[in-house]
Amino acid sequence: MQNIVLISIGTMKHNVAGFLSLSLPEILHAQCRVIEEEIALDPFYSTDRKQYHSTEILRQLLPFAAGDEHHILGIMDKDIYIPILTFVFGEAQLGGKCALMSGHRLHQEFYGLPEDESLYMHRCEKEAVHELGHTLGLKHCQNFECVMRYSNSVADIDIKRNVFCPSCSEVLGIPSLW
Ligand SMILES: [Zn+2]
Ligand SMILES: [Zn+2]
Repeated sequence: MQNIVLISIGTMKHNVAGFLSLSLPEILHAQCRVIEEEIALDPFYSTDRKQYHSTEILRQLLPFAAGDEHHILGIMDKDIYIPILTFVFGEAQLGGKCALMSGHRLHQEFYGLPEDESLYMHRCEKEAVHELGHTLGLKHCQNFECVMRYSNSVADIDIKRNVFCPSCSEVLGIPSLW
């Protein structure tokens, strides 16, 4: 498994990158570090949708992956979309180097509920593992509790575990934490 580099993009309410840098190494069997980079988001804002274009921001991450044996995960807190969908929690290059995730819709506050930092962090963790799993070549898994199961809502995310099921672990060639 290759190294993981986390890049925080824009302001975050909580230190997601710091949290993930501690939890991802065990789950992904990879080293993980956080780097500071300024990535301007303004060019990718849609005034019609009041959201940011995920694929365009993902493209900004590519230079950080060039030539190195590592995977990049951009982490942001603004709402992101791809044109065919209302929103996305994240996006990844299947079998590529880069992934992007947003915590925007992972906050309880987004649903009018009191903020729950621990729940938020654990949702972010599942989303991070899911998107990085795609960069490692994994497709969606039918196992309900597998982190690679497709999620369309926070309820779906809350059902999942934060780790790969035995068959996804086998594809990755890492010991299963199931
Ligand atoms: Zn997915
Ligand atoms: Zn699975």
